[in-house]
Amino acid sequence: MGFDQLTGQEAVKARLKDITSAPSACSLLFSGPEGIGKHLYARETAKAVLCMDRKPEGACGKCASCKYIEAGTHPDLVEVEPTEGRKNIRIADLREVVRDAQVKPQISAKKVIIVNADKTMSDCQNLMLKSLEEPDEHLVYILLCSDTSKLLRTILSRVTELNFREYNDEQMRSILKQNGASDLDEDKISFLITFSSGIPGKALSLINDPDFMEERDYIFDMMMRMPRMGYTDILYDEFSYFDKNRDKMDELLLLMVWTLGDMAAAIATPDPAGIKNADKKTQIKRFVSDNPAVTLINISNAEKAITDYIDGSRVNTSFETACCNMLLRIHKELCYEKDR
Ligand SMILES: [Zn+2]
Repeated sequence: MGFDQLTGQEAVKARLKDITSAPSACSLLFSGPEGIGKHLYARETAKAVLCMDRKPEGACGKCASCKYIEAGTHPDLVEVEPTEGRKNIRIADLREVVRDAQVKPQISAKKVIIVNADKTMSDCQNLMLKSLEEPDEHLVYILLCSDTSKLLRTILSRVTELNFREYNDEQMRSILKQNGASDLDEDKISFLITFSSGIPGKALSLINDPDFMEERDYIFDMMMRMPRMGYTDILYDEFSYFDKNRDKMDELLLLMVWTLGDMAAAIATPDPAGIKNADKKTQIKRFVSDNPAVTLINISNAEKAITDYIDGSRVNTSFETACCNMLLRIHKELCYEKDR
């Protein structure tokens, strides 16, 4: 019940239980990467603040206020997001929210305003600042922000910041399973957990993105096929794949780096632990045994080709030249035996 039903973030939960049990108004800032669960916690915090029968662990889950929150119709909770089709929150919309907030709450003892602060420009931030400087007694602000360097320093000095940390593997596994990933096999879940670096929102969006799993399989297979490829395969087929997916280059490069890292792990020990492509361990081991001439030095040279590409893409080289050059260098390293 209350905050305890949420996974992980123990330090944040302990503080929220304290804060929401005190009857005073407050202004909170939830900081941490996108997808970490700030919004989920903000709703639970609002629920606890507005609850009519608050428990030490948070909202009761049973009173009229809790029911309204669950139905998304609580009159004393406002969530401010950009209106449809807009990138940022409009100052006029926020002004209206701030003005309405001065009116007394309708059913609870307080009002809660949750603002997606990532979507506020300086005009909105200045308006929020005014409101934070002279807070109404009944008002609780919760700002959600994934990059606090973009907030006015004066705002930062007026809020209590709670920082959300990445989840460990076990917590990620439990969050993913609660959110519909239970029909995926364990190794695939392990891969997604590692790829999303402890951020559940990222893992969940990848699960729901069929393109991602396809891209990932493509890149993995391409790396496995490299020793059997010729130059023309690289310069036509493989380059055209990257060309088509230019907008996902960061993701593709990361997948390549990971596959190389897994190859290195399998070269170093016969039964490697900590393989990132956990569901493809057998193929990686087979690659290593089929290509005994590929050494750790080759792998590190291939990784260097990728970092050189990344460094080069910051200056103005053509995508075609840089990408083909990178692929040919990786190919050369993985075809070590054939070339010599
Ligand atoms: Zn309640």
